[in-house]
Amino acid sequence: MQELPRDTGGDNRSNVLWEYGLDGWPWQEYQMKYSAEVTVLFCIAYSAVFLVGFVGNTSVVLVVYKNVRMQSSPTNIFIVNLAVADLLVIVVCVPFTLIGSITQDGSKTDEGVGASVIYKESKIMIKIPNSCTIFSAEAITISHSLDIIEQNKITKSIILSDSLSTLTNIQNYLQPNDISRKIQNQISSLELQSQSITMIWIPSHVGIQGNELADTYAKQAITSPDAHQINIHTLQDSKNIINKFITNQWQQIWQTMHTKLNEITPSIYPWPVTSLPRRQEVILNRLRIGHTWLTHGHLMNRTVPALCPTCEVTLTVKHVICNCLKYRDIKDSLEISDNLQQALSPDPENVYKIFKFLKLTKMYNLI
Ligand SMILES: [Zn+2]
Repeated sequence: MQELPRDTGGDNRSNVLWEYGLDGWPWQEYQMKYSAEVTVLFCIAYSAVFLVGFVGNTSVVLVVYKNVRMQSSPTNIFIVNLAVADLLVIVVCVPFTLIGSITQDGSKTDEGVGASVIYKESKIMIKIPNSCTIFSAEAITISHSLDIIEQNKITKSIILSDSLSTLTNIQNYLQPNDISRKIQNQISSLELQSQSITMIWIPSHVGIQGNELADTYAKQAITSPDAHQINIHTLQDSKNIINKFITNQWQQIWQTMHTKLNEITPSIYPWPVTSLPRRQEVILNRLRIGHTWLTHGHLMNRTVPALCPTCEVTLTVKHVICNCLKYRDIKDSLEISDNLQQALSPDPENVYKIFKFLKLTKMYNLI
């Protein structure tokens, strides 16, 4: 049996501890698993369990201790025993489980992803490209472990991993990824040789000596010259790399363009989904792309482009919302921004103001 490293680091999750300036804390080498909001939720939930459990169980013990008559009943003694056991679990385990639940080791850094496999006295340190997902790193270590199991003819092995996604994908015989398929084949051939493999998911391996040791080596693997460099990418990793590259290129091109849409949004990412009625959604999007009945109706009527009767310039959405003298008072009273991007942003308050503006200027039905 050998021990495996846990997830080898985080991806885009924020390092909340650093943001909060707790640099001196012994767990600074850990990164937060989840966003700040989820982490706070975890802390609240665990604190509630801790408080209720502590107060409840302590009360049980105190009540029986103070009331001598109650101590004669074997049932009460039994209940006190349970309460003491619960208290110990709450005081000793809950805080560490919380830390294990919200943090992860920092085996993924900008320099690469580290992984390690430990068997008896020997250790294998592996360095994988930074573009690899944690999922791939975990799967690679499992695959290496199976190699060792085969080489050493170990008949019974248990693999403890805290990466549920990796274990689930290994179980998926219909659409496993490349490494999972390799692991499936390895397991089949091992079973043919009567070598049994059991894989167990553990929610956290804090305190499991082998996994902790593997963690330490996984971190060392990133910088150690002894680490084996493996240039491997699963299909999913490659897709992620390509997607990221294309999106970056697109974003860069978008930022250098000067179109009407660039004025509305600096980002290529979709606007957040709103819960507006369809009609309002249509109006908002027509304003954003700058094509409305008011400004482009002449194309349908085959007439000349409409002019603003007050300012005598070509009628555009930007002119109507930001510059038109006729509507300036209404616009100012609603505190609509002079910046078209802000005026048409998906912020609910801005959306409310724009519809109020359209109603007051009687343009709602002209968009
Ligand atoms: Zn005007």
